[in-house]
Formats: sequence, structure tokens, C-alpha cells
Amino acid sequence: MARAGILDNKRLLIIDKARKTVNDRTWCFWEKTKGPFEEIVFKSWNRAWVRNEKSERCLDLAPYAYKMIRGIDFYSLCNKILSEYSSIDRLYVPVRDISFDNSGIIVSAGEHQYTADYVFNSIARDEKQGHLNPELLQHFKGWFLETTEDIFNPEEATLMDFRVPQQNGTAFVYTMPFSSRKALIEYTIISPELLRSEAYDDALTKYVHDLGIINYNVAESEFGIIPMTKKKFPLREKNMMYIGTAGGQTKASSGYTFQFIQKQSATIVQSLLQTGQPFSKLSKGLARRFRWYDNVLLHILKNNNPAGKEVFDILFAKNKPSQVLQFLDNETNLFQELKIMRSVPQIPFLKAGFKEFFNY
Ligand SMILES: Cc1cc2nc3c(=O)[nH]c(=O)nc-3n(C[C@H](O)[C@H](O)[C@H](O)COP(=O)(O)OP(=O)(O)OC[C@H]3O[C@@H](n4cnc5c(N)ncnc54)[C@H](O)[C@@H]3O)c2cc1C
Repeated sequence: MARAGILDNKRLLIIDKARKTVNDRTWCFWEKTKGPFEEIVFKSWNRAWVRNEKSERCLDLAPYAYKMIRGIDFYSLCNKILSEYSSIDRLYVPVRDISFDNSGIIVSAGEHQYTADYVFNSIARDEKQGHLNPELLQHFKGWFLETTEDIFNPEEATLMDFRVPQQNGTAFVYTMPFSSRKALIEYTIISPELLRSEAYDDALTKYVHDLGIINYNVAESEFGIIPMTKKKFPLREKNMMYIGTAGGQTKASSGYTFQFIQKQSATIVQSLLQTGQPFSKLSKGLARRFRWYDNVLLHILKNNNPAGKEVFDILFAKNKPSQVLQFLDNETNLFQELKIMRSVPQIPFLKAGFKEFFNY
């Protein structure tokens, strides 16, 4: 908004309970060209592995590059950009309540109340009210590993290595190497419940050991939970718009969110520029069939039939990697989607497809 000139004659208050001064997450995503955050891309890869006990394949991701941004670099860049605009104020307090009256939207934060014409809200809705209630959770722990020997090929990432026990849900390890001796190694599991906190470290220790890495140091770690839900997220309540995960921008079947947030942000800006209000371009929304595909995959992952590891293996074995990535971006056409559908085991997917048909 700031860069598009929308705030030249408006004021914006950003309220966050956290100052975001630590590297609390890492974002990975794929894109074909240079994106708006290219200057802070920490590392990118053109090739990535998918592995299981029976097979392994190195995917050529072209025309996409798989990119990684460190949370702290993202926060620093955004803070730097925002500080250049006198029309933007920042406040670091928790938001307690949001209500509506004739004068606009009233946000109670800290000791004060603020009134606004529009509010963009990224606070996740209360799970107890049944708004979120995810079918599955994607939960993961990542280690920033430093080794004393050359172990990694920094040109090749590992998207999914399924050579880890699958009894608690679809589980895999994800490796993003920065150099021959440094990598982010993340143990990820998709299941309804979280594990005991030691279980993530145990799985990582075993995986690293199985790779033959004996001498290593864990420089940093990250833990995350991404809800995977079939619930429809209301985008709007009067003049308040939900954004980010709270606004349904997490892809239900994959957990990827970063690029969907960028697309939502671009749509909001386009709408503001063209109509003066943020909602018009969002009315079209996402093609409903993508919601159905997500629900079907979620159904399969939840019921573990076929097992998640088989599904992802088949998807990448029988389709061009770029087509799978395009599909996961909700950017394929019907013809491409039919080809992808033909590649997966027909009977369980047809059953899941039928069960989820009235659910999207
Ligand atoms: C560790 C981790 C790694 C991830 N990695 C990836 C990835 O590689 N690729 C990908 O696509 N997605 C990833 N995700 C998912 C998703 O991209 C992130 O969760 C992303 O940060 C979601 O953005 P958001 O703006 O919706 O929420 P957040 O980034 O969580 O922002 C919400 C903000 O609201 C503030 N807030 C919350 N409640 C209040 C309150 N009551 N008052 C004031 N402020 C409040 C918080 O402090 C926070 O700054 C990851 C998630 C996590 C947790």
C-alpha cells in the first residue's frame, strides 16, 4: 500500500503485540521471476529431491526457483520501508477487542481505543467458537545445523524425505542446505495431534544420525504449527477484512501460505487503487474446484489411504515438477488438473472426491 501511493492522504496504524525482532520463522516458496522480496532471499534452489525407501528423484524445478526468506530479514526490510512513511504509525500492544458502530470500526488495544474506516485483521479467530477447528495440523521442528565436515550439496534442496516412521501421520524431513556445512533440517508431520516436545528432537537426532552426521551443532531452531482445515474463512465482517492465515490464505492441503498472502495483498492494493476500497477484487475469490481438490487431499491424508508418502511420490513421479508446483499454487487449468488427477490412485481418490463433493 505504501509503495503504491495509497497512503499519501490516509493514515495507517499497525498494531502488533510483538516487535518481531527475532528470527521466529523461515518462509519457503517458489516463484518463476524475481518477486517483491528478492533482495532478502537468503538462498534459492533450482533442483530438489523427493525420497522414500524405494526410490529417490531429483526434480528440476524450472521455470520455478524454490526460495527461502528468513523471518528476521523480512521484518527488518518491512520495518525499514514503513519507517520512511510519516502516514504510518506503529503500536506494540495486544488487541483486546474489535467492535463496530456508526463511526466505523473500534479497535481496543492496550489502554486505548482507535476508530478506523477499514481494518485488516490477521489475528486468528478463536478456535473455541468453531471457526478454525482444523482437520489436521502440519507441525514441524527445524534445526539450523552446522557440521564439521562437508555433507550437503548447497545446490539441491530436499522437499520431502519420507524415510522416517509414518505411524503417527504423514511425516517427512525437509532439508534446505545453505552451504556444504550448513542447512535447515526440518522434521514435519501431518496429524490431528501434536507430538510430545522431545519427539521432534528425537526424530531429528535419528535422521541426522542415519545420514551419517556425527559432529554437528544446532545453531538455532524453529517450531511451527500450520492448521490444515476445510473450514471456509469469512474474508470480511462489515469493513474489516481478514488477512493472512486468519483470512484463509493457508492452502489447506499443503500448508503453504506465504505466496497466497502476497497474492491477497496485491489484490487488496489493486482494489484500493481502482475503486478506493479494498474489497471489490476479492469478490471473485478462489475457483471453487481448488477448494475441492484441497479437501480431497486432506481427506486422503487424514485417512491415510493411500499413505501420504505414496501420494506425493506418485504426484512427482508421474507429472512434471513445474505442473505440480503450478497446481499447488492454484494456477493450473482444468486440462492440466485432469492430467494430475489421472496420475493418482483412482479408487481412493474417487471415493474421497465423492465424499467431499458437497463440502467445499
Ligand atoms: C515456523 C513457521 C514456518 C512457516 N514456514 C512457512 C513456509 O516455509 N512457507 C509458507 O508458505 N508458509 C509457512 N508458514 C505459514 C505462514 O506463512 C506463516 O504462519 C505466516 O507467518 C502467516 O502470516 P500471517 O500474517 O497470517 O500471521 P503471522 O505472521 O503469525 O502474523 C500475525 C501477527 O499478529 C500478531 N498478533 C496476534 N494476536 C495479536 C493480538 N491479539 N494483538 C496484537 N497482535 C497480535 C502477531 O504478533 C503476529 O505478528 C510457516 C509458519 C510457521 C509458524
